[in-house]
Amino acid sequence: MGAPDRSEPARLLADIFGFQAFRPGQAEIVAAVTEGRNTLAIMPTGGGKSLCFQLPALCREGVTVVISPLIALMRDQVRGLREAGVEAGALTSGNTDEETEAVFQALDEGRLKLLYMAPERLATGATEALLRRVNVSLIAVDEAHCVSQWGHDFRPDYLRIGALRRSLNVPLAAFTATADEETRAEIVTRLFDGQTPETFLHGFDRPNIHLAFAAKDGPREQILRYAAARRGQSGIVYCGTRAKTETLSQALREAGHSSLAYHGGMEAEVRRSVETSFQREDGLIVVATVAFGMGIDKPDIRWVAHADLPKSIESYYQEIGRAGRDGEPAETLTLYGAEDIRYRRSQIDEGLAPAERKAADHGRLNALLGLAEALACRRQLLLSYFGEASGPCGNCDLCASPPAVFDGTEAVRKALSAVLRTGESYGAGHLIDILTGTSNERIRGRGHDQLPTFGVGREMSKGAWTSVFLQMSGRDLVRPDSERHGALRMTEAARPVLRGEESVMLRKPAPVSGVKFTAKAL
Ligand code: ADP
Ligand code: ZN
Repeated sequence: MGAPDRSEPARLLADIFGFQAFRPGQAEIVAAVTEGRNTLAIMPTGGGKSLCFQLPALCREGVTVVISPLIALMRDQVRGLREAGVEAGALTSGNTDEETEAVFQALDEGRLKLLYMAPERLATGATEALLRRVNVSLIAVDEAHCVSQWGHDFRPDYLRIGALRRSLNVPLAAFTATADEETRAEIVTRLFDGQTPETFLHGFDRPNIHLAFAAKDGPREQILRYAAARRGQSGIVYCGTRAKTETLSQALREAGHSSLAYHGGMEAEVRRSVETSFQREDGLIVVATVAFGMGIDKPDIRWVAHADLPKSIESYYQEIGRAGRDGEPAETLTLYGAEDIRYRRSQIDEGLAPAERKAADHGRLNALLGLAEALACRRQLLLSYFGEASGPCGNCDLCASPPAVFDGTEAVRKALSAVLRTGESYGAGHLIDILTGTSNERIRGRGHDQLPTFGVGREMSKGAWTSVFLQMSGRDLVRPDSERHGALRMTEAARPVLRGEESVMLRKPAPVSGVKFTAKAL
């Protein structure tokens, strides 16, 4: 056989896979992998990653070894490929002896084009010996982020893949939907020995989904108003707790909507019936925890609202991404407040994860808070987090009405000084009393009316200060103390601001219904 024919992929795309055209990014990845270059492809779930190694496997001589942690998915793919007439097989713990025997035979006869295996297989020396005997031309690693020790899906056996690549001395193509910098760096280190592979990142933009955030200001009413404006449309409301899914769903029903609650604490049977109803009925609102969505394949979800802030920018992206799969306009709204930030931080701090993982989780939360507190196009910021460059989108709340901003450096420095002068032991409420010079028993009892900081922030209202503290939390300039409930500590990120080396632009508090934030003093 000579060099692969350039028109070959396009022909196979139609003949074997039955697709008219490549999706954005697929053609370039397929070309790089087919030509035997080391590649890392980052595409969102559902973006069409499997084609990017299946098709090259057919174009190359010998067998492509596919490593994947998901046995059910492997079996599905093998079945699909076989139906299309491709020689594919899997070595997994779920195999019958006959299946395994058939795979070995196809391998020995050099017929097999794709060999799927679970990472556990690599733990036995026999696998490497086997693979060295046959003509392996490519290693494809699905869910490559499983190699990251600080990620949520760490699979220790993934650490063996690098050695396998060296031993077989073949190109490797890694695929993942996880795009953050640290994970990417770990993939490069562990799978490619630090030699940066050709990297592709595509398809994270979902331009038909409108993005919006709002400060919590009577969240139940906010959600009811949102749903009322979208009566008859299918939607999902994500809540932070199981209890809230029930009460909010009840409130929606009372407001005349068709709505069901869904969470992991419900009987499997009940959950399944909610899933089926949602899939079949039009205009149902499911109020759910994050347990809802994995198995949902409904193209016409018109809106997704978050009654509470998600736990990370990745979760946010995944949850809003369930809207508008049909490509028609869809809307999203994410509510957040100081409580959410505190709750998400303490969830991380109180977890059992090692320190490095906690730091990474705080980072993912910070990225989401940065998005919530953004001063310009949210999509541009979201996509830049995933590494995709873009211009202002024209389909988010901030593109529609850019927020008024002001130089908040002085305000932030005053707030930080209040935090430090009181030994990083108090919450925003008390600190705001100090800043605004509000003398009450608690203030006097601690002698805080004697502090030089007392009353230095009189020119701003309490509401305005609340917004400043929220934005400071959002930028991780202050953090709740994990040991002392409600107390705020200053972070390292705040030091340059305190020293006057960095300035901070803040959003003027939105005059939300005129209650929580009054902008007058700003
Ligand atoms: P991922 O692994 O990235 O989550 P898959 O590889 O399972 O995604 O692909 C998601 C869906 O998109 C599958 O149903 C697949 O058949 C379909 N798909 C992939 N590539 C194309 C294409 N070029 N044209 C049409 N459909 C495609
Ligand atoms: Zn925008």
